[in-house]
Amino acid sequence: QAQSARLYTEEDPVVILSSDSLKQTVLNSSSAWLLQFYSSWCGHCIQYSPTWKALAGDVKDWSQAIRIGVLDCAHEKNFDICKEFGIHFYPTFRYFKAHDTTNDFGKTYRGADRELQTVRQLMVNFLQNHTKHDWPVGCPPLDPARSEDILSLMGKKTEFYTAVIVEDKDSYIGREVILDLMPYEGLAVKRALSSDKLLMEKLGISSVPSAYLFYPNGTHTVMNVQKRLRFFFSSFLKLLPGVHRKQTNSALQRPQPGNNGQGTQVEWKEFEKSKVYMADLESGLHYLLRVELATHKTLEGEELKTFKDFVTVVAKLFPGRQSVVKLLETLLEWLVSLPLEKIPYDAILDLVNNKMRISGLYLSEQVQWVGCQGSSVALRGYPCSLWTLFHVLTVQAANRPDALANTGFEDDPLAVLQTMRRYIGTFFGCQECGKHFEEMAQESLNQVKSVDQAVLWLWRKHNQVNARLTGSMSEDPMFPKTQWPTPDLCPTCHEEQEGLHVWNEQMVLAFLKQHYGASNISPKYSS
Ligand code: FAD
Repeated sequence: QAQSARLYTEEDPVVILSSDSLKQTVLNSSSAWLLQFYSSWCGHCIQYSPTWKALAGDVKDWSQAIRIGVLDCAHEKNFDICKEFGIHFYPTFRYFKAHDTTNDFGKTYRGADRELQTVRQLMVNFLQNHTKHDWPVGCPPLDPARSEDILSLMGKKTEFYTAVIVEDKDSYIGREVILDLMPYEGLAVKRALSSDKLLMEKLGISSVPSAYLFYPNGTHTVMNVQKRLRFFFSSFLKLLPGVHRKQTNSALQRPQPGNNGQGTQVEWKEFEKSKVYMADLESGLHYLLRVELATHKTLEGEELKTFKDFVTVVAKLFPGRQSVVKLLETLLEWLVSLPLEKIPYDAILDLVNNKMRISGLYLSEQVQWVGCQGSSVALRGYPCSLWTLFHVLTVQAANRPDALANTGFEDDPLAVLQTMRRYIGTFFGCQECGKHFEEMAQESLNQVKSVDQAVLWLWRKHNQVNARLTGSMSEDPMFPKTQWPTPDLCPTCHEEQEGLHVWNEQMVLAFLKQHYGASNISPKYSS
């Protein structure tokens, strides 16, 4: 594995195969497979690996129907299996049908065009080559639905949504959206053709691609997306209330909103996802100062320095209520004025809890998650508030360049990110999280040269974490991990280039500065 990990690693969304696992994985599998047999010394293969990884990431949600794998024929261990499979050139692309027990060696794709979009469409064609006898388990029908079946949904109450993508016969968007939504429950996605004039007329659709949505309550309407692109349709559907990613662990009970998982009811707070809530930021600070830090009996050396820097950055940049900002400033003055190399945590707690309250400086001891509330007590909450806090701080550092004057951090575009990195590594209770974050920082933090780039770096890395955690235990089914901001929050952030979703980073930066800017922080629910 060490060698085959040269071009592809376990972090990539591809399945890395070897002589031990190839046959048992791809033969008689419940899904189809598309494999690339490559050689780690072949220049084409090296150049092509980013496309292959991007493709695998792009179709990650299709894995119940078709999966992407790689096998390194330059690895000594794989010499024999590559010979057995008749691999003469690199890269060689092979398809394996689902449920194939014939022990065959797959079907080779010989087309010259290996662009991501072409290969993705080939995957769809290949899936459609299955018959009803060997159809991949869990893969919904990909042929156009009959118009009478669609029209019969009008006014009918059901337990789920039905979305119908209406498109031209050569379009792939319908099938791609159907496959994108495969791991989700609470809706069915179908496709219909624009040549079906009766259907077009009845649904009132005049241009394609379009999507039509039937609600569980029997109402129906054209789906309103800002751009008629695959990503916009898929994202809209994933975010419908009541649509969830299927739980992989069936033992995990789906919690209901308001139930904190321990039988006690917590009142559900209505909130807007286009806003940031001061209650989350203050609850996060409360938790950080009074709970997380409390596990460290004394702070000294690097720990103390990290804590001081953290308080410096927050005191100078936190766009909070006066009583809270003053408290942070007083805490900072106190930390700076102390000549001690070692501070007992109790002294910090005493200051935060008692001394300051006397002078009217106060940080609520109540936890009030709003934008960060989860459907169970174990989900969201504190880590969500910590991300939010650091996004707010990077944006403040970009919007107020002088705020860190005379702190030792002036003119340092990395002030917030380095402080966050050290805080997360030293104090954040989730050690695995800290390890991953440190890896990301080591990889690319030195490329950040401006405060704007710092805002974007944190956004990019947070999305990387979201992608990794999709479908994991820490995903709240009511708040599925997405690549954020979703098209409904920022339509101009999203574009498509040659069939692949791309971000417009200039628009993302403008959006982040607005979203995490001081004027978008709502005081609602902060007591
Ligand atoms: P969060 O991911 O916490 O996001 C909070 C809010 O930020 C979202 O609701 C959204 O409004 C906004 N947002 C989402 N994405 C972005 C973005 N790209 N840019 C800007 N804003 C965005 N958990 C693990 O299981 N494994 C880990 O390795 C791990 N690493 C972590 C590392 C750090 C530094 C932190 C702070 C947390 C980490 N966590 C990890 C926790 C995990 O990332 C989530 O915080 C947690 O699962 C709660 O998720 P959430 O749905 O509340 O959204």
